[in-house]
Amino acid sequence: MFMKFLLTVAVVALIWFGFRFAQRLAMQKPAPREPADSAAKPKPRFTPEPDGESVRDLVKCPICHTWRAPNLGPCGRKECPQ
Ligand SMILES: [Zn+2]
Repeated sequence: MFMKFLLTVAVVALIWFGFRFAQRLAMQKPAPREPADSAAKPKPRFTPEPDGESVRDLVKCPICHTWRAPNLGPCGRKECPQ
């Protein structure tokens, strides 16, 4: 019975020290490429401005069928109503 307990403690200790050893190995290894790349070059991310200046509804021109922001003025064609 006591030997069983001793064996259990030994196995737990072995797993514990093995885990610590593996952790130390992982710490010594140079950082994996993926996080280093993403840290050096962050992915472009669209962040709309709260005032809505960068997000606006587009209006379709009935003549040339292009979508334009209303504040951009006419599209250039002389028959364009906008
Ligand atoms: Zn137009």
